[in-house]
Amino acid sequence: MLVVAVGLAFAARMWLLGSRGDVPDAPIALKLTADFDPIVAQAERIRPVHETKRPNEPGDWLERSPEGGQTFAQFVHLHQFKAAHPELTGIDIQPLGEFDQTQQKLVERTAELMELFFGTKAKILEGKPLGEIPESAQRMRNDTPQVLTTWIMDDILMPQRRPDALATIALVTCDLWPGDLNWVFGQARLTERVGLWSLHRNGDPHADQAAFRLCLRRTLKTAVHETGHMLGIPHCAAYECCMNGSRSREENDRQPLEFCPECQPKIWWYCGADPIQRCQALMEFCEREGLMEEATRFRKEWDSLKSAR
Ligand SMILES: [Zn+2]
Ligand SMILES: [Zn+2]
Repeated sequence: MLVVAVGLAFAARMWLLGSRGDVPDAPIALKLTADFDPIVAQAERIRPVHETKRPNEPGDWLERSPEGGQTFAQFVHLHQFKAAHPELTGIDIQPLGEFDQTQQKLVERTAELMELFFGTKAKILEGKPLGEIPESAQRMRNDTPQVLTTWIMDDILMPQRRPDALATIALVTCDLWPGDLNWVFGQARLTERVGLWSLHRNGDPHADQAAFRLCLRRTLKTAVHETGHMLGIPHCAAYECCMNGSRSREENDRQPLEFCPECQPKIWWYCGADPIQRCQALMEFCEREGLMEEATRFRKEWDSLKSAR
């Protein structure tokens, strides 16, 4: 949930601490075996490129919902499940409902980035209508129709989830609400490998190229944040990072697209992404799409990783 919104963040925490219960509130020192030395060394190379978490502004996520974060070592200790299930691979993206040509372009760009970001195949499934939405799964809020996130996950995604999919994520254009909160940008479950996110609150991508780029940047952030949750990564509290929780559009817009030196190695290990190839590919993607701030960040990481070869 990167998103998140008030809802998302809260919901994610509930899933993290509620259904997983094993995520500690504060980082504790854990030792990794020597097998992890190469990953740890690469993480150290990118550490200077990243900014540690800035002090909270009033109303920020961590001010309202203090979380301890999670180190790479903690993640490894908690997620041996994946090591025991190497068959889990690929991200399935399910468009639900109507998408115009511009929105379709956003879906394609997002799938492309997700594949590069996580180092695993990201496939766009054939679009489906939302179908008949039960009364209990729809409502009007401030004259805007909203659809219930849990209905999409339970009734649409879970029955169709590929058994060996690393993650199955739905993309919608309608506004979302999770049941107990007003709205969310997206939502994910940390143990069932399903989630969803919406374009609805990312701005109008039709106005001009700058507007499309802004909507793309926001959509990419939500996509990788929610997918991070689906891989079992909780909110980050150590660095300015795409896994930071966010309680508002402003807080979300301040956060980077990239994962930090504690969160990024989780992808390398869990998904098998090659750090250097990943960085180069993401840099080229962002340069092509005019996301220059992000491209500069990826270039710095790429340079740091290459220089140690
Ligand atoms: Zn989140
Ligand atoms: Zn992080």
